[in-house]
Amino acid sequence: MNRDVNTLTRKAYAKINLGLDVVGRLENGYHQVRMIMQAVGLYDVLTFRAAKSGIGITTDSGELPTGEDNLICRAARLLMETYGVEAGVEIHLEKHIPIAAGMAGGSTDAAATLQGLNDLFALQLSQEQLRQLGVQIGADVPYCIMGGTALAEGIGEVLTPLPPAPQGTILIARPDIRVSTKYVYEHLDAGETWQHPDIDGMRSAIESGDLAGVTERLGNVLETVTVEAYPVIAQLKREMLSCGAMGSLMSGSGPTVFGIYGSGEQARAARDCLEKKGLARELFVTGFV
Ligand code: ATP
Repeated sequence: MNRDVNTLTRKAYAKINLGLDVVGRLENGYHQVRMIMQAVGLYDVLTFRAAKSGIGITTDSGELPTGEDNLICRAARLLMETYGVEAGVEIHLEKHIPIAAGMAGGSTDAAATLQGLNDLFALQLSQEQLRQLGVQIGADVPYCIMGGTALAEGIGEVLTPLPPAPQGTILIARPDIRVSTKYVYEHLDAGETWQHPDIDGMRSAIESGDLAGVTERLGNVLETVTVEAYPVIAQLKREMLSCGAMGSLMSGSGPTVFGIYGSGEQARAARDCLEKKGLARELFVTGFV
């Protein structure tokens, strides 16, 4: 966070899911999940500037709304109305996280907005208070406020922080398709059965710093829907593994696929290989945060 008198800048990190299980469904339609969340070194940059009144949003992304539909605006309004902030704010979003890709890009921007405005207006709200606001915007927002490595249960808002996951180099590949989260969950409900990933085993592997234990337990039940509908996801996973990944998985509801590599050299070689094959629209080599 950088700060001059009236301006403040914050990074909003993307996440991947090392594990994602669906364990039930609530009457209101929400799914009960068990997820291992992991922040990665790919981030948006948000700049907040105090203003006389109103909430103004600008962005370098040509694809995002700048009005009330932007989660940044919803987060700012919720916080400012709940805590009676009378001043206004101008927020600029520099977008780097792929949109609608299963990396919680909107949720992390909302989380950074709650945190940024808490600082800008010196509200001194606790992380717990910010998380309570966050869950009203989206189930992943409380995790994005916490960051790092965490077990997320309930609808995603019941959080247990975990020690930092053992470091590998991460290759992230976003194919040139959009996947609707709603479509994925609806089709999952219609499906028969699926194999539950070993979330507890993953947690133990993280706690004991066992990278191989993590990579052999990567699992995401939502792949049962997306891999069938979008063959490029399976193809990306295969290519990542054949280029030496210790493990590969789709993140969230997709379509982003990541691979975990034992070295930066291997991950960069895999990136070059995927680039040549034209399987991904965007590729990033990064690490866990
Ligand atoms: P998740 O992993 O939580 O399912 P996602 O990465 O799949 O999220 P997002 O990038 O958060 O998806 O975008 C989902 C939708 O939210 C998009 O249709 C987009 O227009 C809308 N949206 C609103 N505000 C933002 C924002 N600040 N950044 C990204 N998307 C936003």
